[in-house]
This record gives sequence, structure tokens and C-alpha cells, in this order.
Amino acid sequence: MADLYDLVLEKLDTLGKGYPRTETGAERHFIEKVFTDEDAEFFLKMKMGNYTIQETADYIGVSYEEAKENLERMAKHNLLFWQYGPYDTEKRYRLVPFIHGIWEYNVDRIDIKDAKNMGYYYMNGMGESLFDYRLPISRVVPISKDAVKDGKILPMDDMEAVIKKQYLIVITDCACRKVARFGKPCNCGETLNRCMFFGDSARFYLDQNIGNTKVITTEEALNIVKENDELGLYLMAGHSNEPSAMCSCAGCHCGILMAAKISVRSGSKPGKQTFDRWGNYKCVKDMDKCIQCGICITRCPMRAHKKNTEDESKVEFNPALCIGCGLCVTRCAQDALILERKPDSELSIPEDRLSYDTFDRMAIEKAEVDAMRAAMAQNDE
Ligand code: SF4
Ligand code: SF4
Ligand code: SF4
Repeated sequence: MADLYDLVLEKLDTLGKGYPRTETGAERHFIEKVFTDEDAEFFLKMKMGNYTIQETADYIGVSYEEAKENLERMAKHNLLFWQYGPYDTEKRYRLVPFIHGIWEYNVDRIDIKDAKNMGYYYMNGMGESLFDYRLPISRVVPISKDAVKDGKILPMDDMEAVIKKQYLIVITDCACRKVARFGKPCNCGETLNRCMFFGDSARFYLDQNIGNTKVITTEEALNIVKENDELGLYLMAGHSNEPSAMCSCAGCHCGILMAAKISVRSGSKPGKQTFDRWGNYKCVKDMDKCIQCGICITRCPMRAHKKNTEDESKVEFNPALCIGCGLCVTRCAQDALILERKPDSELSIPEDRLSYDTFDRMAIEKAEVDAMRAAMAQNDE
């Protein structure tokens, strides 16, 4: 019989990109660790969307005091997102998916067992689920607007411009690098405090005191973007038209990148398009300018550039693997590489201003696609 935490896991699978079950139950341990039974019971009663305490009390059918006590306790346990409503009047609370949400908010509590579980879970459940639909969980954005041909970068993808608009910017610990610290040594761990949040999301991270969050200036944020180029870290933005976050991701340990690679290997499915929509740019190579120096090979997180297996003096490029990060472009001294914006029909333009509204949209899309796939599977039997 399903127990309380089975129900929590089932519900988590209906939020954002989901939280699929695996045979070993590796996904269960962290949830049991961060939820109390009271949290779990209230979580099961909550629905998607942003609600004040009173609105939550009304739709669940409990008193204001009971809703307040539960929401505040769950916020203390980093199981919810909140932001202030118009004119800073009252907090609005919302359910969050496991990724991005419960896992990252509890970065301070990730230990070696969680790191191992997550490694297994990415390979056997979560990894495939993140890229199994049409809406992308995030967008890869160019490392610099100068890497884009004819200056055709979209305003929401221009991280320098996005940073300059913010009233508050923070950096916080990166959950993927925290996991990396428990594994084989790599450079990832040296830049643990690297995830950037803007505006209301920054305020949330700061007030919740998640993962060594600290306020940085606009100039410091712009320097991080430049430093990322030097370090070979690619940029991802939260998938909304006013990005609330910027990831500085390392090819070796970014969980989303791992998921993208799993998705490429696992091939096509009805309703699956995400890898192609995980960014708005593609690298184009001018073969006549290339001198086969191989620097692009060391820069590409997707291994889209590699040595020709028959003639190692030649560097091949597979545009199908390119995610449009621009890291190879900024280091090609021959100007043989450039990012081109995709045709309008292939662009990923989020409909929502806030990332968590896009996450709700992902959940609705996932439910529809899962139902369609289940119906197709039944017809095939
Ligand atoms: S997605 Fe990138 S920045 Fe975000 S937690 Fe993972 S590695 Fe860190
Ligand atoms: S970095 Fe530029 S010149 Fe060097 S192999 Fe790559 S494309 Fe060719
Ligand atoms: S080829 Fe690789 S490094 Fe260059 S833009 Fe594409 S993904 Fe980035």
C-alpha cells in the first residue's frame, strides 16, 4: 500500500519536469530527509500557482492560522518558493518541483549518500525526464553578445543586459558542484558559489539563507560572466522572458547538461523536442578559415568539435550536438566560428515573465504528453 512518502513522490512527478520513480527507490531518501510528516501532509493538499496565506487556507479548507503555520514551516525547510505580491503587500507561496526547487534549495543538506543517489538517479530516471518534452527547463544563452552573428542576440538571452536591469543580484552554492565535491576531483568544486539569482528570486535566496547566498554588485556579476568565458563555463538562463537566474555551468558536472546528453542518446519520442529547443543559437563553422588548431575541442561542453578518427590532424564539427553556448567562438583565433540565431519558427520564446510560471506550464505539458504516450502504448498492445 502507498505510504505518505509514496504519495509525495507521486505528486512531485506532476510538478515541472517531474520526478519519476526508479526500481531502487534512490529518489526517496532525500525526500524523506528534507520533509517532515507534517510538511508531506500539507504538500499533498497544495496546488500549483502563487497564493497568499488566506488564498491557500481557502482552497485547502483550513483556517488562516493553520495555513500560515504550515507554509512558514515548509518555507523554513526550503520546500516552497515565495515572493511578495504587488506593492510588497503579502507573501505568495508556491509549490516547486524537485528540479529546479527542492534539490537546489536544500544544497546545504546534500551529503555523500545524496550525491551518489543523485548520480544513479540522473542516469536512470531524472536525466531522461528533464528533456523528454517540448518546453526546455532552461535556455543555454551565448557567453557574449559578440559571439552572435550580426548582433542578433535576443534581449532575454543577452546576460549582460539582463544583469544591468536588476535591482538585486546574489550568488549561491551550485548543487551540481556540491555533488561533484563528493566524487572524483575536478575543477568544479573551486567555483561552488556560482549560481546567480536576480530580483525577487535573489530576495528569496537571501532571506532563506540558502547555500552561502551573498549579494553582489552589477559589476561583480558582469565580471563573473567574463570569468566564465575564461574558465570555459557556459551560461544558462531560467526559462522565462525576464530570466530570474543565470547558471555558470561546467561541462563535467552540470546535471542539466548530463540530461541533455542522455536525451540525445535516447532518441526521439512523440512529443519530445526539448534538446532542439534548449537555446536559440547554433554554431556555424567556416571550413576555409579553420587551421585545425583544436582549441574548440577543449572548449565544447557537448563534444561537438572532435578529432577526425581517421585523420587526427583534422577537426570535425557536428552541428547537431551544438547547444549554442559560444565558448568555442570566443577562443577561435581564426574567426572560423560564429553563433547564428535560429530561424524564428525554431526559437524558444517563453510565454511567461517568471520561471515558476513556466514550470507550471511544463507540468501541464508533461501530463498531456504522458497521457498521449500511454494511449499510444495501449493502442500498440
Ligand atoms: S545547472 Fe549548472 S549552475 Fe545550476 S546547479 Fe547545475 S551546474 Fe550549477
Ligand atoms: S578553434 Fe577555430 S581554427 Fe582552431 S580547430 Fe577550431 S574552428 Fe579551427
Ligand atoms: S560547438 Fe560546442 S562550444 Fe561551440 S557553441 Fe556549440 S556547444 Fe558551444
